[in-house]
Amino acid sequence: SLSERLNSVFKKLKGHGRLDEQNIQAGMREVRLALLEADVNYKVVKDFTQRVKERALGQEVLKSLTPGQQVVKIVKEELEELLGGEQQGLDLKAKPPVVIMMVGLQGSGKTTSAGKLALHLKGLKYSPYLVPADVYRPAAIDQLHKLAGDLNMPAYPSTSSDNPVDICMRALEEARQKAYTAVIFDTAGRLHIDETLMQELVSIKEKCSPHEILFVADAMTGQDAVTVAQRFNDLLDITGVVLTKMEGDARGGAALSIKSITNKPIKFVGTGEKLTDLEVFHPDRVASRILGMGDVLTLIEKAQEDMDQDEARAMQEKFQKSKFDLDDFRKQMGRLKKMGSIEGLLKMIPGMGKMRDKLKNVQMPEKEMGKMDAMINSMTRQERSNPKIFNASRKQRVARGSGTTVQDVNQLLTNFDQMQKMMKKMVGKDGQPQLDMNSQ
Ligand code: GDP
Ligand code: MG
Repeated sequence: SLSERLNSVFKKLKGHGRLDEQNIQAGMREVRLALLEADVNYKVVKDFTQRVKERALGQEVLKSLTPGQQVVKIVKEELEELLGGEQQGLDLKAKPPVVIMMVGLQGSGKTTSAGKLALHLKGLKYSPYLVPADVYRPAAIDQLHKLAGDLNMPAYPSTSSDNPVDICMRALEEARQKAYTAVIFDTAGRLHIDETLMQELVSIKEKCSPHEILFVADAMTGQDAVTVAQRFNDLLDITGVVLTKMEGDARGGAALSIKSITNKPIKFVGTGEKLTDLEVFHPDRVASRILGMGDVLTLIEKAQEDMDQDEARAMQEKFQKSKFDLDDFRKQMGRLKKMGSIEGLLKMIPGMGKMRDKLKNVQMPEKEMGKMDAMINSMTRQERSNPKIFNASRKQRVARGSGTTVQDVNQLLTNFDQMQKMMKKMVGKDGQPQLDMNSQ
């Protein structure tokens, strides 16, 4: 990943070295390649590396970070800035009904995103009205009606012989009468930009004055999405972007380019086909994704907040030597609780997607923490340091001693085992720490 590559470029520079022209140049070469690989527009890349270089130049290497990490940190901050800095949701200041118009090419995910947004708005106590305005594709109206049915929400009864501009105007009127507080227009898209269709969208905009015009882009289409975004923005002055199909391997380069070329915020990210697969866009997460390192920096920061350096080093050595025991597990769990859910933590670790599924059943709410304490207290020192020796009678003894059940003990041991595996993975193969918290 890019962060690994940067770390290796700056590996030689340790302690209080300075970041200088030469080593930064080498670092920027990696950044340039990685961004181009992630499908970021080359002009954007050029400006970007220049800014990072200026910031990094002459900086003293911080004690708490390796030089590589320091450059990664600058790159990440600049990426976040480029992606829009703060996250931005829907503009909901207007007097209801709030009118949202979905635009974009065919297959980009407009209809699906319309349904997802309706659900999102319902969560914000709005009552959305879904309006099918794609009369060209035979199944498009049915598709939105079906989504509305699934969501148990009203949809305008468009037919394919209606005019899309009329549909939107009438639907808006009806929404006002029925006191719906949000209206979502699902417009038509072609495979390529089509002037007639673009004019139709302009008419809808003129007649209905939507508060939000969201350009829906398929993240997998990379550079193409950028050109298309530019065209839609020129014509419609879009208010934001929904980037779909961002789950899996989409690396987010499109996000970066679209944002910097249209200068419009990315507001939402689609992460799957289900209606719940919509996330508010977090510039920091996408920045990390481009760096290929999960939210490692956040993780490092959080970990450093409540773990002093010595303790961290000791912990890391334990992972490496596989001496991580149940007492350590308990400490880690306490820390995890402070840091948020296990799932939240795993999200921050690169390559943990699969592990996350496996660990879905690892639950650690308040009362479980209490139980865990009691069980570990009932264990002998030998059992804590080498849980492999647990047999049925040891488990029964611990269960009795802690007022829990053998199933509880089994669950704890399973959790421990999974945590240990996860930590090993975090530390990496051949003892090379991937997190590299204290390599100085
Ligand atoms: P439209 O032509 O722009 O209205 O696009 P649709 O909403 O019909 O979506 C086209 C296809 O993309 C459908 O198969 C959707 O299920 C799928 N899709 C939409 N959003 C996402 C997403 O965020 N992730 C994935 N994996 N698929 C998506
Ligand atoms: Mg559609």
